This record gives sequence, C-alpha cells and structure tokens, in this order.
Amino acid sequence: MVTDSFKSLPLRNELLTTLDTLGYTQMTAIQAQSLPTLLEGKDVIGQGKTGSGKTATFSLALLSNLNVQRFRVQSLVLCPTRELADQVAKEIRTLARGIHNIKVLTLCGGMPMGPQIGSLEHGAHILVGTPGRILDHLSKGRIDLSELNTLVLDEADRMLEMGFQEALDAVIEQAPKQRQTLLFSATFPKQIEAIASRITQSPLMVKVESTHQTTTIEQTFFKLESTQERDDALEALLLTHRPQSSVVFCNTKKEVMNVTDELLHRGFSVVELHGDMEQRERDQALTMFANKSISILVATDVAARGLDVENLDAVFNFELSRDPEVHVHRIGRTGRAGAKGQAFSFYSEKDGYRVALIEEYMDIEISPKALPSKPSGEPYQAAMTTIQILGGKKMKVRAGDILGALTKTAGIDGKRIGKINILAMVSYVAVENDVAKVALKQLQMGKVKGKALKARIMK
Ligand code: ADP
Ligand code: MG
Repeated sequence: MVTDSFKSLPLRNELLTTLDTLGYTQMTAIQAQSLPTLLEGKDVIGQGKTGSGKTATFSLALLSNLNVQRFRVQSLVLCPTRELADQVAKEIRTLARGIHNIKVLTLCGGMPMGPQIGSLEHGAHILVGTPGRILDHLSKGRIDLSELNTLVLDEADRMLEMGFQEALDAVIEQAPKQRQTLLFSATFPKQIEAIASRITQSPLMVKVESTHQTTTIEQTFFKLESTQERDDALEALLLTHRPQSSVVFCNTKKEVMNVTDELLHRGFSVVELHGDMEQRERDQALTMFANKSISILVATDVAARGLDVENLDAVFNFELSRDPEVHVHRIGRTGRAGAKGQAFSFYSEKDGYRVALIEEYMDIEISPKALPSKPSGEPYQAAMTTIQILGGKKMKVRAGDILGALTKTAGIDGKRIGKINILAMVSYVAVENDVAKVALKQLQMGKVKGKALKARIMK
C-alpha cells in the first residue's frame, strides 16, 4: 500500500484538517517526494509540470516554519507574474485558514504603490510578489527581511525569461544566509542551475516527469500551410466541437491580434490577451473569460502564464511552440482534474523539427488528421453576460449585496447567476444571457448600502 496520505507528515493539526476539508487526501508525486525533506527544514529544488501541486508543496513548508505570534516577514515567495502571485497568495490563504491571523501580502509590479506601502506599514508574515517590485520596496527600506526563514522561487525559469535575473540576485542578497530555500522550475537551463547552486545548500533534487492529467487530453494535429487555411480550420473546429471555454495560443502578439480580428469578423465571442495590454484591460479580459461571458481567449504564452481558469474544454495551438515543454504547458490547461480535454495543434511543412521535438518529448507519434468539414450554422455565443457595476470594495460592496439584489428583489434563480468579482472600484457579475436585461434593470434601480449604483452590460 502506498502511504501518500498527508497524515503521514509531521504537519500541525490545523493544516491537516484544512487539507482534509479541501479534499486533498493523497499527496501528488512532487508533494510525496519533497515534503518529508522540506518539513525537516532542508532546501529543495523541484521540477514538475503545470498542475503537479508545487504551490501546496512550498506553502505547507512555509506555513510550518511560521511563528504566527511573531508579526514579522518570515516567508517570501517570488513569482514571475501578478496572476501567478495572486494564485499563490490565494492558495496560501486557503491552506492557512485554520490558523488564525496570518497576514499574506501580494506585492506586484503594475499595481499602484500607495496601497502596497500602506499594507507594508501594517506588517505581514508572508510576502508574495514579483522580483522587481519586491526589490523596489526593499531598496526604499519598506521591507525588513531580517527574520525571513523561508525563501521560495516559483517558476524560476520564467522569471529569468522575463529578465528578472538582476532583481532576483539583489533581493536574495538581502535575505539572511540562514534560511530554507525552495526553488521550483519547469525547466532547468544552465542559468537556473547556476542560481540554484548559489542560493541553496545541499538541496534535495526532486523531479516528477508528468502529471497524471496528461492522459485525459486528446491531442489532434492538423497540417496546414497558409494563414487562411489555419483561420478556416479554427472556425471549422470551433463550430464542430463548440467548446464553452477555449484558449488559442499564438507565438507572437501580432498573431494574437490577427487571429482575434479574424474570429471577431467571423462572429465568435473572443478576447485577446498579450503583454502590451494595460492591467485594467487584462483584468477585464480575464474576468469575462473566466466567468464564461466570452468563450474564446487568444493569447501568447507569457500573457497566459498563471491563467487561473480551470476546465478549459479545448486548447488550440495556432502555431506550434518552439519548445516542447511549452507545448505541454499549453495543452495541460485543458482536461484538468480528471475532466477530458481536447488539444488541437496546427503545423506546416516547415515545422518538421518542432513536431519531432514534441514526439520525442511526449513519447507520441504525430500524424495529421483530416479537418472536419465546416458545419453549417451560426457561431455559438458564450452562455453568460457580464454586468459591470460601478462600485467595489472601497464602497463596501459585497457579493452578498449583489446576489441579494438579483435573487430577492428581481426574483432571478440563484442558479442563473455566475461568478461575482468585487474589485476596488468596480464589480462584475455574470448572469445567464436571457436574464441579463432584468438583472441590469434591477441593479440600476436598486440600491446597495443606500446608494444608487451605476451598472452596464459589458460587450
Ligand atoms: P503547479 O505545480 O503547476 O504549480 P498547482 O500547485 O497550481 O500546480 O496545483 C494544481 C492544482 O492541483 C490546484 O488546483 C491545486 O489546488 C490542486 N492540488 C494540489 N495538491 C493537491 C492534492 N494533494 N490533492 C488534490 N488536489 C491538489
Ligand atoms: Mg505553480
């Protein structure tokens, strides 16, 4: 019998209880291989694909090192992007919910400085952020790392790819030498090895090959030459399979824009995501995609990094990625958690080398399939509509207020109301398309905390 239960670990009871309520019964491979060592306080270098459970791995380690009574920064998690940092902070908070008064703070670039400075003045136990912004605060003396016991580098390869090497070095320079260091990376190029050997002490190396989820992804490849052929193929596949949520991966920003325009032109519900967008636009695009008001997201790899959308019905590779690992990352976004997913990849004659790399990396044989013929019928639309409400946390708007206005006053069945996102100044609620008008009217007429709200349907 395999004893991959968390119960076999010397974890505090609050954590074990929380893991139980989360339905985390068995450890994933990377957890089983690294947690016993991590909980002895040793350094670990972990390599594992997306979805292997790395976040919980380092979160359990840093929470175990934490002395809640001591209100000082004790752990620092460095991440490549804000989306990823938000996800990590969320997971830490979830795992820590049985332990009272743990303060987790996210500090990322692209966000206003003021609130971060304010929060830092109030103090925190755990910091999660991007290297550039953390360094910024450090150099202004707003962060004191003298009591840091755990340093985590998550997705270290991405951080280097994004040019964070110098910032990383400068941040680590200020951390106490006596500490536990955990480094996670999907790949191990020379630069990562160099960093790893500089910042860790006799680390345990853990590598997990693949996640069990890959087996539930059905991959289909199509050999297509011109852009026109690719556009037509994408349309035919979308109309045939009608995925409620899908991502189309492109290699460049220009391609993202072209594909988005083409799909819009053909009548699909689509939004783009690339590195040059403003934070507000990105947030809006991601919110509407995640709440199912938009069914197709077209994105570059970097922009889609850390995308927290579960259960994608399909992933399209408009072009094959140059790196087989990236290919695996891309398709790993569908078919998560046991749900079956589909991955469609386009390649052309000149991509022979990329195809061979994927074949070798994934140990599969790739042969092109015939395209389905384009079904007649209209492009399908997303199931939900997003209503934007001009009022957020700052005005003390809560999800319950919005839900109440819609279910109690307008009599809309709660089942027809989707995700509610409350941001600082605005909120978004997704409702099924055919109740959108009623919902909008109600929100416009109604009051939240005695104040009339402005609301509009987002297109
Ligand atoms: P990655 O290795 O890519 O960072 P994550 O840490 O984001 O992966 O984990 C992927 C998903 O698996 C998350 O939704 C997480 O909640 C879930 N998860 C992690 N560990 C377990 C576990 N032991 N049992 C069940 N689900 C888990
Ligand atoms: Mg991760």
